[in-house]
Amino acid sequence: MNKISDKNIFKPSWGYDKAPESTDHIQIKDQYELFINGDFVKPENQSYFKSTNPADGQVISRVAEASSADVDKAVEAARKAFKKWSALSGKERGKYIFRIARLIQERAREFAVIESLDGGKPIRESRDIDIPLAANHFFYYAGWADKLAYAFPNRKVLPVGVAGQIIPWNFPLLMAAWKLAPALATGNTVVLKPAETTPLTALKLAEVIKESGLPNGVVNIITGAGDTGAAIVEHPDIDKIAFTGSTTVGKYIQKALAGTDKKLTLELGGKGANIIFEDAAIDQSVEGIVNAIFFNQGHVCCAGSRLFVQESVADLVIDKLKQRMNSLMVGDPLDKNTDIGAINSAKQLKTINEYIKIGLQEGGEIYQPKCTLPKKGNWCAPTLFLNVSQSHRIVQEEIFGPVLAIQTFRTIDEVIEKANNTPFGLSAGVWTEKGSKIFYLTQKLNAGVVWANTYNKFDATSPFGGYKESGFGREGGLHGLKAYVKFD
Ligand code: ADP
Repeated sequence: MNKISDKNIFKPSWGYDKAPESTDHIQIKDQYELFINGDFVKPENQSYFKSTNPADGQVISRVAEASSADVDKAVEAARKAFKKWSALSGKERGKYIFRIARLIQERAREFAVIESLDGGKPIRESRDIDIPLAANHFFYYAGWADKLAYAFPNRKVLPVGVAGQIIPWNFPLLMAAWKLAPALATGNTVVLKPAETTPLTALKLAEVIKESGLPNGVVNIITGAGDTGAAIVEHPDIDKIAFTGSTTVGKYIQKALAGTDKKLTLELGGKGANIIFEDAAIDQSVEGIVNAIFFNQGHVCCAGSRLFVQESVADLVIDKLKQRMNSLMVGDPLDKNTDIGAINSAKQLKTINEYIKIGLQEGGEIYQPKCTLPKKGNWCAPTLFLNVSQSHRIVQEEIFGPVLAIQTFRTIDEVIEKANNTPFGLSAGVWTEKGSKIFYLTQKLNAGVVWANTYNKFDATSPFGGYKESGFGREGGLHGLKAYVKFD
């Protein structure tokens, strides 16, 4: 590893004034019920849990906890609705989905603020990325609803039936959109469960769905934690499970479904390799590294959490990266200047801090910019580790936080071998001026998504998914329809 110099680290002597997004335009209820068969209904056992703001620990709302009896009700509603919904023409289904997309757009500001309040991500990201992309997914799949014959030429396309969809806390509304839109476009009905730390935008979406006039029972949104998720997975009248979350839970789900004829797609963890060649545009690459690992506090399954820099430019890249980290603003998610918001939960912060400790114990050299973290809430400074090798746990295991492990390389073959040496296979990034190098690497890297001279770019038309322990099945694009259809 090259010697790293701390000289010339840029320390701004000026600051930004506060620029908080207003919260006076949002409506959050004190208590949320389950959205079943087009109505908000109380849970059978009258049990509720709190959804809190990770930036200050304040309770935002109480949310119903669905038991297996509630899951039964939701599945029953979805099954009943399936008959009519699947018989509707694609054109008619498309109208409803377009309407949902437009309603999300109309309420985009409200969705964005609630997303940041409930999950801790910077308002800039919820406003400019999560919410527009969620609307985009509905628009995109609405367009497919009456064109399935073109998506699958010469085949008779049928919906799968009732889909159980379980989503994580890192992109709550966006993940709901990724799952709902293709399922609806292809004529399926749905029982969807958001994660327990971020249920509020999915519940807001339930209001939008009600307003859209979607027939009762086509989408049911029920809240709860792992037990509720397990009750969905194990329900005998569900035809398909779509899960995005941790590899541990994904493995459990795969075991639970073994021997059944339920369809399954899993989008699990990752340990993305972000590779910087000496011929890359260095300043752009540094921005790319920051975006790859610090976007959404690193709570991103495809995060570029392993950085590989060609040895000849390592000193330069790392110096510039440290400088850039010094100017990142960590703090209030609702402040429009914030780059890094709050860690989603105390549990996740504990996991991240444990990995930072492990990194140090294993001999890694840590760098964190000097930033004042707020006293209340869950916070972690952007962190990088040098002097690590392939065998270090922070290089092998998913941390799901703003922690980057940096290694160097000399040759293309060496970096391909290192990049592929992981149990995961979700994402990678390549930074180089040479198109031929990009094509060579995209063939050799064992990753579902390979970005070239960019990172963490998402688009409704583009398939996303993994290999190996990152799961199977694709979401987005034409490929995303496949998971929700069967052929006669
Ligand atoms: P994390 O460990 O990062 O919280 P999880 O994989 O546990 O991620 O969570 C992703 C989603 O899976 C959440 O909606 C969560 O409630 C759900 N979940 C957790 N455990 C189970 C389970 N045993 N069966 C089904 N869903 C589960």
